[in-house]
Amino acid sequence: MKWLLIIFLVSFSSAIAAQNPDCDIFIKNGKIIDGTGNNWYYGNIAVKDGKIIKVGRDIELPAKKIIDAAGFIVAPGFIDVHTHLEGDEIKDPNATNFILDGVTTCITGNCGSSNVDIGKYLHFIDSLKLSINVATLIGHNDVRKTVMGRANRDATADEMQQMKNIVDKAMKDGAVGFSTGLIYIPGTYTKTPEIVELAKIIAKYNGVYTTHMRDEGDSVTYAIEEALTIGREAKIPVEISHFKLSGQQNWGRSKETVPMIEAARKEGIEVTIDQYPYTASSTSISTLIPDEILADGQDSIKARLQNPEIKKYAIKSMLARLKKRKLKHFSYAVVAYYSPDTTYNGKSIEQINLMKGRKHQAKYEAETIIDIMMNGGASAVFHGMSEEDVKRIMQYPFNMFASDASIREFGAGMPHPRGYGTNARVLAEYVRDQHVISLEEAIRRMTSLPAQKFQLYDRGLLREGYAADIVVFDERKVQDLSTYDHPHAYSTGFKYVIVNGVLTVEDEKPLGVRAGHALYGPGVLK
Ligand SMILES: [Zn+2]
Repeated sequence: MKWLLIIFLVSFSSAIAAQNPDCDIFIKNGKIIDGTGNNWYYGNIAVKDGKIIKVGRDIELPAKKIIDAAGFIVAPGFIDVHTHLEGDEIKDPNATNFILDGVTTCITGNCGSSNVDIGKYLHFIDSLKLSINVATLIGHNDVRKTVMGRANRDATADEMQQMKNIVDKAMKDGAVGFSTGLIYIPGTYTKTPEIVELAKIIAKYNGVYTTHMRDEGDSVTYAIEEALTIGREAKIPVEISHFKLSGQQNWGRSKETVPMIEAARKEGIEVTIDQYPYTASSTSISTLIPDEILADGQDSIKARLQNPEIKKYAIKSMLARLKKRKLKHFSYAVVAYYSPDTTYNGKSIEQINLMKGRKHQAKYEAETIIDIMMNGGASAVFHGMSEEDVKRIMQYPFNMFASDASIREFGAGMPHPRGYGTNARVLAEYVRDQHVISLEEAIRRMTSLPAQKFQLYDRGLLREGYAADIVVFDERKVQDLSTYDHPHAYSTGFKYVIVNGVLTVEDEKPLGVRAGHALYGPGVLK
């Protein structure tokens, strides 16, 4: 009788095991690059209930889903530290451009631009559900606008207190840090001490300070000094966003700027940087117009530009800046999206000016820019960096990769290709083809380095107990396909993408699964 019972129990439990395998997903035979920067090795990974439960050479577990990754790289999902998702989450919650570029986590709220009620925003992310995880910064420009509009002046003591209250609450609600956008309104009107004061609040909660600096061209070294001063005085980790040298006259100056970062680290400032791997930038066309014209909103901008004296001054200063760039035309500025007339999309200011029947001279092109501004402005792509600087910055070991993009609406406008191809481009162009950095090094910069910086402590490595954000890709085939002329193209080569233990991409096809969630910063844990 006893042996019958034993046979029964054994067969019963093995039936249970078949129904309830030991893990959800078992990835076998892959070349594991774990995110530390260490060399790849052959191994297997078991995933269960959203976590990595085992990693190693010799493990073998029954699974609901087995992925044979022979010939493929298995790496942690990529963390894009610099994105602008605000307002686009709803357009494509599948975030297809990110997920097919290997990105499983985005940090949004950059360049001073974010939601002000962070608690509400993170709830929104969790109720909408995206395919990717989202963490957010609290943006200085939106905090300042909430308290004092677009005013071109210092904050009063009372306004300062109100801004402090907002950032304090944002950190308690789960922001990972504080961002500034000091080329945008009203950041340009803000002096360093205001930022230091606000950054001190963030530091209290162990948040990070990220900055789109005041200048990325002629005055870049002063702008870096300012970022470092804020780090030093507020005792806060600094992330300099989309580190670059803008303007032909500044090409080669990464020889000056990268050593400034190295020296600051020696001094004890916890500074790191990020970049997108392209020689063109993208932002609002308003950045071509002098700052003082941009105060107090669109009605005031329009009124100022209608004043002949002010318009003359604007054109003069735009031409002076063009001359500094050693350029004769505004051909380097290409409209990405202009809502009043979409035939402008993808055309340079030089071309648009000619389309309007105007003379082929820079002063008329400046006038064309002013016309666009009077009609509400446009986003644009600016071809203004050198490949040599992009590579020199890339070789700095504490530089991460970031798209500086949002969720792309497939087919809309002529946006910068970085929104589709940032990570694939690093892996294809700069790792495989040009050997600028090694594969393991690139993966480290896409995974554990950003996770450490933004304190996402259970992500960015392939380790037991970590969140199962995993990419499986073909290092020989990974490729960015998005270009300036044909931006709407997804990257290829990412065969499987797993987010929080859920298969989200299979055979390079998004499954429409949305397993991402909000990631909360260090302030909420207090
Ligand atoms: Zn920016």
